[in-house]
This record gives sequence, C-alpha cells and structure tokens, in this order.
Amino acid sequence: MGETKLKIAIQKSGRLHDGSVNLLRECGIDVINGINKLKTESSNFPLELYFFRDDDIPQYVEDAVADIGIAGENVVYESNRKVGVVEDLGFATCRLSIAVRKGDQYDGASFLEGKKIATTYPLLLQQFLDKNQVKAEIHQISGSVEIAPGIGLADAICDIVSSGSTLFMNGLKEAEMILKSRTVLIKNGNLSAEKEALLEKLLFRVQAVKKAKNNKYILLNAPNENLQQIISYLPGMKSPTVLPLAQPGWSSVHSVLNENDFWEIIEKLKSAGAQGILVVPIEKMIL
Ligand code: ATP
Ligand code: ZN
Repeated sequence: MGETKLKIAIQKSGRLHDGSVNLLRECGIDVINGINKLKTESSNFPLELYFFRDDDIPQYVEDAVADIGIAGENVVYESNRKVGVVEDLGFATCRLSIAVRKGDQYDGASFLEGKKIATTYPLLLQQFLDKNQVKAEIHQISGSVEIAPGIGLADAICDIVSSGSTLFMNGLKEAEMILKSRTVLIKNGNLSAEKEALLEKLLFRVQAVKKAKNNKYILLNAPNENLQQIISYLPGMKSPTVLPLAQPGWSSVHSVLNENDFWEIIEKLKSAGAQGILVVPIEKMIL
C-alpha cells in the first residue's frame, strides 16, 4: 500500500498563488516545479498540490477532490460549501464593500432600499441586506462589476476593494465594508485519521512561521544601572537573556518583541539608555 498523502488545493495563478507556495516553502516543504499544470507534489512532505481557480477550491475540498485548500474568506463564505476553516493565513487581505456613486449621500444601509446592486457576491450581499432589513434588487454579474453604475445597470455595487482606485476611476466611492476577508486554510469534513495527523503536522509548521513573522529578535547593550528597567520593557519572553559585555558596567540583552508593540518599546528602551539596538527577523518560532 502506498504512503498516505495530503492533497492541497491552491490557486493556479493569481493573487493567492505565490503566497500559497511561499507559505509551504517557509514551512520547509519543497514544492517540485513540475511541467504538469494540474498538480505537483512535495519531495520532502507527503503533500500533493492541485492547482485550481480560487472560486472552485471550496467545492473541491467539500467533494474531497482535495483534502485541504487555500482560499479567501470571501470565496469560502460565498460558496456556502461545507468545509472547515482551520487557520487564518493572513495574506491577500481585502474587503468586500458596498460602493455608491461619488455624489451620493450614503447614510447607512437604508440608502440601498429599493435600489439595484450589481455584484459577484449575491449570497454575502443578501445576508448583509437581510441583517439590515433592507430590500434591494441584486444583479448578479460575472465580472467588471464596477462599471455597472456608469452604464445604468445598477445604482450601487458590492465588490472587493483594496486601494479604492478602481472605484474612483469609475466615479464610485466605498460606502460600507461588509466583510474583511483573509486567506484561510480550509479542510474537508471527513478526513481520515492519517490525513488529520498530516494536517496537524502541517498546521504546527504554519503556526511557527506565522508567529515568527509577528515577532522580531532584539539585541541591545544596556547600562547595568538601568538593566532592571530595560528588562521590564521586554515582555515578549518570560526572561530575556543577559550577558556581560567586555566593557565593565554594561550588559547585552536579548529578547523577542511583538511587531505591534515594536516602536513604542524601542523608544522606551532608548530613553532608558539602551544602545546598539539590533532587530533581526526570526525564521521559525516554536514555543
Ligand atoms: P481565478 O482565475 O483563480 O478565479 P481571480 O481573478 O478570481 O482568479 P484573484 O484576482 O487572483 O482571483 O484574487 C484571488 C483572491 O485574492 C480574491 O478572492 C480575494 O480573496 C483576494 N484579494 C486580495 N486583494 C484583492 C483585490 N484587490 N482584488 C481582488 N481580490 C483580492
Ligand atoms: Zn476567482
């Protein structure tokens, strides 16, 4: 009997492809660059990669064509497929928003009452309208949603927005975000115990890579008289490493800092007399 392999569905080409392959590589999973356009595999992890359009990934995972997959929440929730969301992967974030004409006074969802809204996300839009008890006419179209108001096909749109420049060029403005979407890892609901175990192994690595990305390794020189104060500013670890410097009265302090608190803490460290502060990226972090 052959070795069990986990099948992962990723986007064939587009905004998610490189991020998906890079994440696997950062997890130490080599992806063989095959000539096969439909699938390839890893040389050092029992993983087979299948390449699909992102919109098809939830269905293929539900139908067990693939065991797991990487797709945007926008696509996963709109598909309404029965798949489990196992991990937020945090790349290719975007927002699904309502946009209206630049001159319109949007004063809340009731603005949309009785209006025509063009979208490729009829399900998520309907949920938003229902939640706000608004009745509107949804026009499902398959692409170039942003031109619909300009050609008189709709009064508003519901579409993915990142910078807003596409909206602007079409005389529209973002009025309301209805979903903040991230890329997630999804799984089939009936994985065998062996496949669940492989998924656990993969998740362990993904989490280590994610943690490492959110943290930085910091090294600094501290005057001994302020050492306790400086250590108190470094909450990232239970106890930072402190080593004596060759120069008397000084120590080298090593610790880990969270990206979010980073600048604030650096300022405090400097004002407590820290010098020679080095900040280094972390490749993997296992707690
Ligand atoms: P496919 O051929 O696979 O269907 P696509 O054209 O539908 O490709 P992309 O444009 O590559 O898809 O977008 C894939 C996903 O990237 C989106 O579903 C969304 O989750 C995310 N995304 C991030 N930023 C944006 C953006 N500015 N516009 C569209 N999607 C974005
Ligand atoms: Zn798509």
